[in-house]
Amino acid sequence: MARKSVCCGLSTLEMLLIVLFVLMTGVSVGLISVMATKWNADSSPEEPSPTARPPETLFLVGVGRADCTGPVGDVPLMGYANLDQTARGIHTRLYSRAFIVDDGSKRVVFVSADIGMVSQRLRLEVMRELQANYGNLYGQDNVVLSGTHTHSGLAGYFQYTLFMITSKGYIKPSIQAIVKGIVQSIDTAHKNLKPGRIFLNKGELEDSNLNRSPHSYLNNPAEERNRYKSNTDKQVVILKFTNLHGDGLGMISWFAVHPVSMNYTNRMVSGDNLGYASYLFEQEKNIGSLPGEGPFVAAFASSNLGDVSPNTRGPYCVNTGEACDYVNSSCPIGGTKMCVAMGPGKDMFESTRIIGQNIYQKAKELYGGAQQEVRGVLHAAHQWVNMTDVTVQLNSTHTVKTCKPALGHSFAAGTIDGGGDLNFTQGAVEGDPFWDGVRDTLLGPPSNETQDCHQPKPILFSTGEMKKPLPWHPDIVDVQMITIGSVAIVAIPGEVTTMSGRRIREAVKQELETQAAFANTEVVIAGLCNIYTHYITTYEEYQVQRYEAASTIYGPHTLSAYMQLFRGLARAIAEGTVGKLPKGPEPPFFNDSQLSSLLPAVPVDRKPENTSFGQVLEQVLPTYKRGEVASVTFVSGNPRNSGDMREKTFITVEQYHNQTQQWDIVYTDASWETRFHWVKGSGAQSNATVEWHIPPSAQLGSYRIRHFGHYKELKGLRPVITAYEGTSDVFRVS
Ligand code: ZN
Repeated sequence: MARKSVCCGLSTLEMLLIVLFVLMTGVSVGLISVMATKWNADSSPEEPSPTARPPETLFLVGVGRADCTGPVGDVPLMGYANLDQTARGIHTRLYSRAFIVDDGSKRVVFVSADIGMVSQRLRLEVMRELQANYGNLYGQDNVVLSGTHTHSGLAGYFQYTLFMITSKGYIKPSIQAIVKGIVQSIDTAHKNLKPGRIFLNKGELEDSNLNRSPHSYLNNPAEERNRYKSNTDKQVVILKFTNLHGDGLGMISWFAVHPVSMNYTNRMVSGDNLGYASYLFEQEKNIGSLPGEGPFVAAFASSNLGDVSPNTRGPYCVNTGEACDYVNSSCPIGGTKMCVAMGPGKDMFESTRIIGQNIYQKAKELYGGAQQEVRGVLHAAHQWVNMTDVTVQLNSTHTVKTCKPALGHSFAAGTIDGGGDLNFTQGAVEGDPFWDGVRDTLLGPPSNETQDCHQPKPILFSTGEMKKPLPWHPDIVDVQMITIGSVAIVAIPGEVTTMSGRRIREAVKQELETQAAFANTEVVIAGLCNIYTHYITTYEEYQVQRYEAASTIYGPHTLSAYMQLFRGLARAIAEGTVGKLPKGPEPPFFNDSQLSSLLPAVPVDRKPENTSFGQVLEQVLPTYKRGEVASVTFVSGNPRNSGDMREKTFITVEQYHNQTQQWDIVYTDASWETRFHWVKGSGAQSNATVEWHIPPSAQLGSYRIRHFGHYKELKGLRPVITAYEGTSDVFRVS
């Protein structure tokens, strides 16, 4: 479906507030009423007799993967909230990975997508598609959508104002790519359903994460901290999916780490460390397949990563080499911006590779040794909750309340994984007269009620009281839990810190284990699920107001409220009363006419005189050695002109085979070994530089690099899009 986004070219906060939101083309979803019938999907020909296994463990399992990479030009990357960090090509493609389990009477779906987070808008759009295609088979209660939290995915899929500001609005082609990718991964898993088995395993991984707010963590009670040997979780939990013959179908791994090995200087779309772990696992299992192809699906999903960095050399002042201030992570010269954590590699690519490789290795080992079979039945519970108004029963006499959303001053400071540009520091418990003045003038001051509720947070943005042009933050939040036998997956609508995750796990486990069927339950925290609400710290961490606490938007009792809510879901599951859970207030679904893109339309592409699109500007060398980088630059168009490029590629590296006298594609833009840089020049001229980082494993021989794109020109007054391609000279790897 071709779409046009109308541009306005405005980008400042001030202008955004006054801009008239432009009407965009509506979604017309083909309402294919395919009511899927359970059990009839693709029964495997080699299906053994049902007597082979005890009936209570007969699951149907299905796995699927689909490309969810959106437009890789101009769209901001989602994570560092940096409007200048717009997409300029591809390092690795982004995928949605879906897992469906059916116990004969109930079905659950877990999706992990290589995106920053799942937004409410994204979830609602996915649910509409699923409803249209499958009726009530896949609904609010039994579908969990989780984002890996890569900070090098694409933005533009939010309906609340704050997120739209950092996204350049609501970008239809961007959200459509993710919706289609997620739905397609579920479709594939659905079609692949077959009798299978599930195994659980867990182990510990060292040297791959560290706590980026240890000062906050230390504010947790000593007796609680003493129960744990580290201030981050080292645990890797995996679920292994096999058919009845024991052949592997797929795997989900959960490990708590921020996918921020690729830092805010990166401009290429990337799955970051967790995406690379998936890449390695799938490449190993799908022998001979190009990346993103082959039946085996390996998801590396997010967990309680709120305060967890992959930058294992830790923070230091990058300008002076000094240690950063421990309490507020700032530097004597240059402030917060100069206090940056890096490592373990020499640059962000190597760091991504090392952390991804570590996680992959551990998961592979656990996968190989997984013996503990997951048995039992499935449950799913979901509620919408007005998080601005939850009364929490702390004990028999004491109740507290959540607050309308608000962000504290330290939100603007950022973290050691990417600091803010202004003079904010973490750990601020007092406001700043200058910025408070700016805020009051532009956006209005927070009410006394909200200020009191959020104490000791000094409020920078009282987002719960900012409703124009649309609410800045959500009130209605999803809480959800699914259980597969004695594995409980808790879908957290944001980023929980290490200790918050531990408390939720413990609370849920305690509640479930009141029933014998849930003895020895493994509780997994699935992060960044269903809707994004920033961070969730413990009450104690909240008191010191570092970044994560300043970003705990529903106030000091946010975690307590979630623990109460998740306990409620767990109790309903344990007692078999899920049907009696109130559904809760439905979240808003704003009309497309209320949403608008601030992404400029693609201008007519220009090229240097006497050249053509796809022509080589800088040629490859005649020969390379393994370990070197083959590079070629083409005259290119804007990659946004290519439209939906999911499951396609902008580049290929091809090898010539003498025997067949054919060129075979050995790498695409999804490959770790390639980099597709879209280099945007001035005057609507642009180039595509393709790099092939020739691995030690590359076969010697003849190669060429190709680039595929589209350019826009005017024919009369009509814009016309035309495909082009370019091919490098043949070169040797010797
Ligand atoms: Zn984060």
